[in-house]
Parts: sequence; C-alpha cells; structure tokens
Amino acid sequence: HIADPFAGARLTIDLAALTANYSLIAARVAPARTAAVVKADAYGLGATRVAPALAEMGCRDFFVAHLAEAIALRPHLPADAALYVLNGLQPGAERRCATLGILPVLNSLDQARRWAAMAREIGHALPAVLQVDSGMSRLGLQPEEVAALAEDKAFFEQVPLRLVMSHLACADEPGNAANAEQLRRFHALAALLPPALLSFANSGGAFLPAAFHHDLVRAGVSLYGAAPNGEGPNPMRPVVRLDARIIQVRAIPAGTGVGYGLTFNKSEPARIATIGVGYADGWPRHLSNRGAAFFGGVRLPIAGRVSMDSITLDVTALAEGALGPGDEVELIGPHQTLEQVAADAGTIPYEILTSLGSRYSRIYS
Ligand code: PLP
Repeated sequence: HIADPFAGARLTIDLAALTANYSLIAARVAPARTAAVVKADAYGLGATRVAPALAEMGCRDFFVAHLAEAIALRPHLPADAALYVLNGLQPGAERRCATLGILPVLNSLDQARRWAAMAREIGHALPAVLQVDSGMSRLGLQPEEVAALAEDKAFFEQVPLRLVMSHLACADEPGNAANAEQLRRFHALAALLPPALLSFANSGGAFLPAAFHHDLVRAGVSLYGAAPNGEGPNPMRPVVRLDARIIQVRAIPAGTGVGYGLTFNKSEPARIATIGVGYADGWPRHLSNRGAAFFGGVRLPIAGRVSMDSITLDVTALAEGALGPGDEVELIGPHQTLEQVAADAGTIPYEILTSLGSRYSRIYS
C-alpha cells in the first residue's frame, strides 16, 4: 500500500467519503449499531487503513472472513473492538481465537461444541456468536441444530450467548418476498435461544424497513461507496478513484489489428493509446472491446483484448496530440462509476473492488 510514482495507475481511496458513508448508515439504522465488514482487505481497499478510520468514528464491531485476517487486524484496532470471523471456527483454531480475544462465528453444532470445550479447558467463559441459517443455505446452524443446542443449558453457561446472526440472500432486491420469509425464520430461530443481541442486515438490509435492523447492522460494500441496492440513485459517496497513465500513443492505418488476437481492426485509420493496467490489476479481461476509460469527459473505448499488464484504448475521438505519454485517463471516477465498470464486465462492484491488485500507487486522502 504505497504511493509509487512509477506505477501504471493511481488508486485513490477517500477516507472522508468512507467515514461519511459510515455515518449515513449509522444514522439510518440507529438505534441499531453499525459494524464494518472489512474482510478481503476491506474489499480490496486496505483493512489496516479502513478499519482504524472507522474505529475513530466509533465503530467497535469488525467482521472478517478468515482468522488470519483477524490476527493481522487486531493490532490496528482499539482493545475494546470486537473482531468476528465469519467463516467460522476451524478445527485447531480454538485456542488461538480464545487467547487473542477473536470471536469465531459459530456456524455448526460441531463448532459450537468445540468452542464450549475450549472454554472448559481454559477454565473461563467465552462469548458465543452463533449464525443461524434463515434461508440462504450457506453457513450457519440449521433449524434442527438450533433446536438441539437450545436444549443444552450447560452449553450457554460455558459460552454465554452474545450475538445471534444470519445473512440475507436478496437484501439488494427490496421487493423480493424472500426477505420477509428470512426475517420470519430468523425470529423463530432466535426465539429458541437465550436472549442475545441480534444481527441480520448487510448494506442492502440497512435500506430495508427498520424491522430488519435489529441490534447490529453489518455494512460492507456501502461503506466503500457502492450502491446498497439497485433502486434509485446511489445514496453513498464514491470512495474509490482510479486514474491510469498513458504510456504510448500511436497512429495506425486503416485495417490494422490491435492486441492479442488482433480483435480490434477498423476500416479507418485510428489512434491507439496504451495504459499500464491489465487483468493482473483486476481490470477484467471481459472488458476487452467493451469497457472504456475517460479523458476530459470523452469516452475512450477499450480497443482489443485486455492484456495482463496493459490495455489499448481507441483515442481517435480526441484531437491529434490532445493526449500523450504521462497524461492520465479515468478508469473509475466521476465519468465512470464502479457500478458501470461492473455492469460492463458482467459482474458486481464487490468483485471489481476485491480484485484490484497490489500494483497500484495507493493514495489515502
Ligand atoms: N454479513 C455477511 C455474513 C457477509 O458475508 C457480508 C458480505 O458478503 C456482509 C455482511 C456485508 O455485505 P455487504 O457488503 O452487502 O454490506
């Protein structure tokens, strides 16, 4: 995460926009608390920069996917911040979690029982975070497992229940009837268990009615500026900007192929500019001959295939000499949103963000 003056492109991460997005979600769901989902290096934006900025805003709950992510982040967070591992408790990881004060999300009866066994072994209670499967069929205790655990009174003495959570499959579709059905199942499963804090909503869920917010909302992609759902204008502030530097510009005669497979070939002369960003930097190869960059508001289509480390742009629309080596074109910014890039690539903003490679010059502003 360095500012490299020779990098092919500059990735600017606006921490003020990030914290404004946190405030927007927090105000929307209050009195529920807002947790930050900072797995996958804060969706590619740098967890060790993002999480402390959110901690300064008062955030005290941070979700990662893997134990290694939690261990790496722990020293960057206040001592009273809770760190949850969404992918659960791996066999053998119990002591590590217990001694580091990291909270595994217990996703099965087996995980719950191993956590209780660790509490017995170390001789003091450990807080339990349980995920129940309310309908997504991915992670979490299934209804019969919840019922079985609810019978086990000794279990909750060793691991007092702190949080019961579940995850929405269709939160980004506010009109989808699956949301209400999952909510109904979540409440039915939580009612079997001792009283605890509840967590259900992600970013999309934060924009569903208050009945979906419970005690703790787990916001991820909205903090990073992406639209929480597909309805109306995006209420979040953009956090990411990506500008690539032109390496070379060339004029090519009519009928000249460009790039691997020579898949771009025009019947008129063209001008081609090359930038030093490619699929190794997370710029999808699927954008070959379909994506674009922008220069001064002018759309510059990607000409030919996206290479590993470079992309060729058709800059014929610009006056000759208007663009040269060292000039910068916009890949993500005011003219081309993250959502647009994702749509052109046939994917979602999550995948674009988390694929951004390590070779950019990173600026936190
Ligand atoms: N909660 C869980 C269990 C998740 O897996 C995720 C991310 O996928 C989130 C919350 C955050 O979701 P979003 O980025 O849509 O806010």
